[in-house]
Amino acid sequence: MQIKNIYKKKKPIISFEIFPPKKESPIDTIYDTIESLKDLKPDFISVTYGAGGSTRDKTIEIASLIKNKYYIETLAHLTCISLTEEKLQKFIEELKENNIQNIMALRGDLPQNFNEELFQKSQYKYASDLIKSIKKDDEICIGGACYPEGHFECSSLEKDIENLKIKVDSGADFLITQLFFDNESFYRFIDLSYKKGINVPISAGIMPVTNKKQIERMISLSGASLPAKFSRIMAKYENNPQALKEAGIVYATEQIVDLLSWGIDGIHLYTMNRPETVRRIIQNISNIREALEYKDNIN
Ligand code: FAD
Repeated sequence: MQIKNIYKKKKPIISFEIFPPKKESPIDTIYDTIESLKDLKPDFISVTYGAGGSTRDKTIEIASLIKNKYYIETLAHLTCISLTEEKLQKFIEELKENNIQNIMALRGDLPQNFNEELFQKSQYKYASDLIKSIKKDDEICIGGACYPEGHFECSSLEKDIENLKIKVDSGADFLITQLFFDNESFYRFIDLSYKKGINVPISAGIMPVTNKKQIERMISLSGASLPAKFSRIMAKYENNPQALKEAGIVYATEQIVDLLSWGIDGIHLYTMNRPETVRRIIQNISNIREALEYKDNIN
């Protein structure tokens, strides 16, 4: 099923993101993760795409497993880096052979050796270029990324939202946000986006932080700002892994409860392939999820 149709039928959508195991690890290591996530009844599970296409085959293989073995809808990520029209068509063909109709179309982070010349030579410079190309095929539904605090390369949030409008006008059917820890920044972003005429469903990307190393890495990668409350909790428990994990789960739960009460289209949990953490969060919101979920009655 095309994910845009799930958004039409149901609110809120609960989705998860997983990543393929590293090159040297066997693919089987992901099976247990999916098996555990399955019981939590996600509306879809997305599978990331490694830098420069390093996980291409695994991305398709895992997405196929999610769809055809577990019967859960899936979203295969794809990035512009080193992509050509021919490779794109092959990717789409393989997805169709595996009964997959959804692509998360991304530019990808530019590799360190990427200079202006290489950038200009790229067939797809921005995610919107890739989206335009995929859009020619109406069997494929397209997701795009968005950034509540602005993308780190862009001069301002307003400019980034102008670029986001191009992405949506190019054919993105729904959006998923970068992780954030401050819901107020998300609400501000939504307000600005609506004013710009962006009216596709948006899922909020939430990452439960459960260990110190992960926090440092994620914050430097995402550039997400840290509310004082978050920093206080992390500083207090950084040397107590169990307490930190507990606090991270509670923090993410509180964020989600607030977003659900606000009336969000969907929550996308960055699982970090840790189903136990996700399970605890989903259990925490199970009654709220049930109370809010409505189906087939959205105008
Ligand atoms: P774009 O939308 O192309 O934006 C990139 C920059 O260019 C922004 O600063 C934007 O403002 C600017 N811009 C956009 N369009 C234009 C235009 N027409 N003219 C001028 N400037 C423009 N990375 C991976 O490698 N694999 C993954 O699987 C993956 N999954 C992700 C999932 C989510 C939900 C998110 C939020 C990010 C993900 N990323 C992934 C990271 C992503 O690839 C990076 O954040 C990347 O730097 C930007 O990708 P984008 O698709 O948002 O790019």
